[in-house]
Amino acid sequence: MAILTRLLERAPQRLPGSPGYEEAARACLDEMRGIGLRAWTESAAVSRWVRGAGESAASAVFLGRRAADRLVLRAAALGLSEPTPAAGLEAPVVEARSFEELASLGDRVRGAIVFFNHPMDRTRLDTFSAYGEAAAFRTRGASEAARLGAVAVLVRSLTLRLDEAPHAGVVTYDPALPRIPAAAVATLDAEALSARLAAAPGSRVRLRLDCRNEPPGEAPIVVGQWDGTERPEEVIILAGHLDAWDLSPGAHDDGAGCAQAMEAMRILKALGLRPKRSLRVVLFPDEEYGAGAGKIYAASPRRRGEKILAAMESDRGGFLPLGFGLGSDAAFDRLKVWEPVLRACGIQWVRPGGGGSDVGPLAEQGVVTMGFIPDNQRYFDHHHSALDVLAAVHPRELELGAIVEAVMAYVLAQEGI
Ligand SMILES: [Zn+2]
Repeated sequence: MAILTRLLERAPQRLPGSPGYEEAARACLDEMRGIGLRAWTESAAVSRWVRGAGESAASAVFLGRRAADRLVLRAAALGLSEPTPAAGLEAPVVEARSFEELASLGDRVRGAIVFFNHPMDRTRLDTFSAYGEAAAFRTRGASEAARLGAVAVLVRSLTLRLDEAPHAGVVTYDPALPRIPAAAVATLDAEALSARLAAAPGSRVRLRLDCRNEPPGEAPIVVGQWDGTERPEEVIILAGHLDAWDLSPGAHDDGAGCAQAMEAMRILKALGLRPKRSLRVVLFPDEEYGAGAGKIYAASPRRRGEKILAAMESDRGGFLPLGFGLGSDAAFDRLKVWEPVLRACGIQWVRPGGGGSDVGPLAEQGVVTMGFIPDNQRYFDHHHSALDVLAAVHPRELELGAIVEAVMAYVLAQEGI
């Protein structure tokens, strides 16, 4: 918890390629060297985007037929969104709960703001599954709406709760279509907007976003290594992503994953253990815009002489550890024998199927990828919003995750895979 606290105090703003991210990289280099790791950086090209200052996120106002219908929506520009004109734009709003419903609206979409109001599916036990399904409207919604002539989109925030906080995230534009502005709306306001539209169809919203896309830049991948005593050329990676959305300090996403990887190293050092194979912490700078840095890391010429055996990623928050998902079936058989050891520190299962967006590209090189999987019922309460703060992280749960990563890392360092 101390590592996470220091990181968030020193670098609460960590958008890829921003000054805040650079400070976070320096903070982690200091942390790694303090633990006794050999630390360095590798550069990655990243997109750069800045949220506007004037809007303090976004202003979206529902304009009903009467003044009393006026409703201020708590909204935030989606990451990589284009801005509206400086004065904002005003257009009638049409609501769609699915892409099929959008298509059925036909001509009504032209010149309108499309409001995607697709709640995350509460019936799915795995909240990541619900997120993956609903995220299509956030990532692809703007282009699907632009295809039909829409001028902007509002997207219901991706959280299972009804709250007042817009939850950001990236929008992905189809290069063949107009890049229209896109913003997330707090779930409570999405409900209110939907009710108002039902009562007064054709009502308008005034939307203003003053975010901007900047030329691509470079950002450091931060690496810290503990060389193995017997097979230092064989490497086990513990990964997280150091970038975070700007609406919060990104305590769970993914400050927790970065802190756990470093804390796992600190624990093993404090125990006086000496891993046979090398343990390497890798913190990526660009998960939120599409994990481009993970691809760059895997493709780097520096990987050619290396023998990375496994890469585990923690990017699901600092919650109670439950299990590990393995990207390789063969590795599953070999790792299954260690389940009793893992169970002793609270891990309930090891399953095939897993990895992570930043370590995923290493799998193509034969690296066994692994995802650290904590309980996920509350992850999206905080995700990408102003609610993802240090106080939302339970120190004991975070520390149990670090212990589990330490045990797994040490097993892999001693036994290989
Ligand atoms: Zn993340």
